[in-house]
Amino acid sequence: MQHSSINPRIAALSPYKPGKPVDEVARELGINDIVKLASNENPRGPGEKVQQAIAEAATELSRYPDGGGFALKSQLAEKIGVEPNQLTLGNGSNDVLDLIARVVLEPGAEAIIAEHSFVVYRLAVTCCGGDLVTVPAKEYGADLTAMQAAITDKTRLVFIANPNNPTGTRVSDRQLMDFLAAVPEHVWVVLDEAYREYVEDDDHLNGVSVLAEFPNLIVTRTFSKIYGLAAVRFGYSVSSPTFADLLNRARQPFNVNSLAMAAVMAALEDDDYVAQSVALNRAGMVQMTEGLTGLGYDYIPSAGNFVAFDCGEPGNDLFQRMLQEGVIVRAIAEYGLPNHVRVSIGLPAENERFLGVLAKVGANAAASSEMKAPGS
Ligand SMILES: *Cc1c(COP(=O)(O)O)cnc(C)c1O
Repeated sequence: MQHSSINPRIAALSPYKPGKPVDEVARELGINDIVKLASNENPRGPGEKVQQAIAEAATELSRYPDGGGFALKSQLAEKIGVEPNQLTLGNGSNDVLDLIARVVLEPGAEAIIAEHSFVVYRLAVTCCGGDLVTVPAKEYGADLTAMQAAITDKTRLVFIANPNNPTGTRVSDRQLMDFLAAVPEHVWVVLDEAYREYVEDDDHLNGVSVLAEFPNLIVTRTFSKIYGLAAVRFGYSVSSPTFADLLNRARQPFNVNSLAMAAVMAALEDDDYVAQSVALNRAGMVQMTEGLTGLGYDYIPSAGNFVAFDCGEPGNDLFQRMLQEGVIVRAIAEYGLPNHVRVSIGLPAENERFLGVLAKVGANAAASSEMKAPGS
């Protein structure tokens, strides 16, 4: 609908398409046995200690949460080796990404992203009146040399997801360090580490450890992935205290709720849960990628808890056919990958179910049954 009193940038946005919820698919198809591998969630469900902490915190629901997040910030700061005044807490890291854009951008200012980047960056930039500059990817990943070359006087912000969603690509430590060293003072760099715990390389650069070297660096992290807490909505950023102070001024006073704080504080004490989730993901990644190769599909090697593969047809077509079989995956045409589908690593039985359905309804299914046909 056209209306002269609506910000035209907002009217032009396409709504964010979340992974299709299990309940919705169950309702539409009338089936119960549904596997959701569409949103890079932790397939194990929340840990026992977290569930207990939430039950205890439920008795205090009539009180506002601690808007400053004192206890949580102290615990988190100690765990990751920073000062509490470097932290900004958010209702999911998406909330923090949004805050960063609001603090840094104004109409006419530019933000740089790589092609195939997380769509939330575009949303955050557009809503603040910033102009988005998208730099072509190199082998599906961020091309930091080209991104550096794209910086102008108008550039205020650069987003780098490492690893990136939906491609699972990483930038090398060397490239990242060179980039950070070369970025001019007027540009803020957001390093989104939503998937860092899944990276198999022990030497993978930890953004927090180089914050002191690069005052214009902001690292964001989330509890939605490895910590298995996507529903409670919690993420945070680590930056210089000066920048954190600005973020905290722009923040809604009670953006993180009491149940989330209780859950996160319990999760921070459960290192076993994280270690087990990493191990589960590693085995599942092998199962998935060997399965994809066996069925004749090329995939983009991924450092995360998901893998994008070339499905040989419009991804949305495969998504629809798999949905009919009760398996929810993610078409990623809106990320500039029209013939790829992203699948999250699930439990072993869920991965097997996905591979079985892909063998049945995927573009290569016809080819492999034709190949078999003459001899059978
Ligand atoms: C999932 C994801 C996040 C996490 O978002 P939350 O708001 O914390 O749930 C952040 N960045 C990327 C690239 C992601 O894929």
